[in-house]
Amino acid sequence: MSGGEGVRVSPVVLRVAPELGEVVRKVQAGERLGPQDGLLLMRTENLMAVGQLANEARRRRAGNRVYFNNNAHINYSNVCAIHCRFCAFGRARQEPGAYTMTRGEILELAQTYAQAGVTELHIVGGNHPDLPLEFFEATLRSLREALPAVHLKALTAVEIDHLANLAGIGPEAVLRRLQAAGLGSLPGGGAENFSPRVRALICPAKISGRRWLEIHRLAHGLGIRSTATMLYGTVETAEEVIDHLLALRELQDQTGGFQAFVPLAFHPRNTGLDYLPGPTGQDDLRMVAVARLMLDNFKYLKAYWVMLTPRLAQVALAFGANDLDGTVRRERISHEAGATSPQEQTKEDFLRAIREVGLVPAERDTLYRVVREYPA
Ligand code: SF4
Repeated sequence: MSGGEGVRVSPVVLRVAPELGEVVRKVQAGERLGPQDGLLLMRTENLMAVGQLANEARRRRAGNRVYFNNNAHINYSNVCAIHCRFCAFGRARQEPGAYTMTRGEILELAQTYAQAGVTELHIVGGNHPDLPLEFFEATLRSLREALPAVHLKALTAVEIDHLANLAGIGPEAVLRRLQAAGLGSLPGGGAENFSPRVRALICPAKISGRRWLEIHRLAHGLGIRSTATMLYGTVETAEEVIDHLLALRELQDQTGGFQAFVPLAFHPRNTGLDYLPGPTGQDDLRMVAVARLMLDNFKYLKAYWVMLTPRLAQVALAFGANDLDGTVRRERISHEAGATSPQEQTKEDFLRAIREVGLVPAERDTLYRVVREYPA
């Protein structure tokens, strides 16, 4: 299937999926979809029709460019005071395999990555009970001084809330202090699914969905852009998926501060939910497509190859995605839960994957400024 210019919703879609007639009409007219439309898209058996619609929406909203960046992940510690059942990464302090990097080790690793040309460091870890706000301020400050050209995308809303609790101050004050130390933007982890029912089952000790949204709203108010995510493939219902997307869409309407949306596939291995099968490849593609159609105010939608595998991420480019994330280099969180993708993608891997499906590659920085364009 080509994702190139000229893709239109085929009349065949309406013949094989007549239940989508009104949704097709709205997408073609550029009208906003409502919750019932979202549920139809989640439930129709005709996944290809959903994909075609999403591909059309992507083409209209964002054209034919597909983005990637040269980045690296630094997971500074897996010690975590809360125990999310879906997580294979977090450890208690004394548990075998628990680790915490020193500020010097983080700096050294960052410098190695900078020498390889990264434009972004993605820095996240567990809710470490003993690493105070001052540790992160000092770390960000040293990174900014040593590597002024590298964007520091660091600390999820969950970590921000945790640091606020440790410091006895509010999250806005934490964000201000980290921003002054060099924080460039917030990653989107910790959103999971906003439904209180889902959170009670998969991450009962984590901040609420409401709190996650509030912290992102505060960040946007300070000019700190962020990413939105949604974990899927655990226990959520179709309604809970659509409610989550609508909550993100509403905040984006109000602040415009989200740069991209990233659907995150649950990987069950080594987690407290390992009896669940996890999402199918079809679920992965549907989630990308439904998100593209519901999140009409997000320009960039990532197919995160670490969780999807590079091959399925390439297919997702025909289902509404237009960003393959970055080179990543060494990722622990998904791989400990059984992700079978490699640890790194090279620029050449991205160029090939994008060109093979007839789209146009562009290397971006964290803020989606084009660093380098390539021919199709
Ligand atoms: S998902 Fe994050 S907060 Fe939850 S246990 Fe894992 S590291 Fe800790």
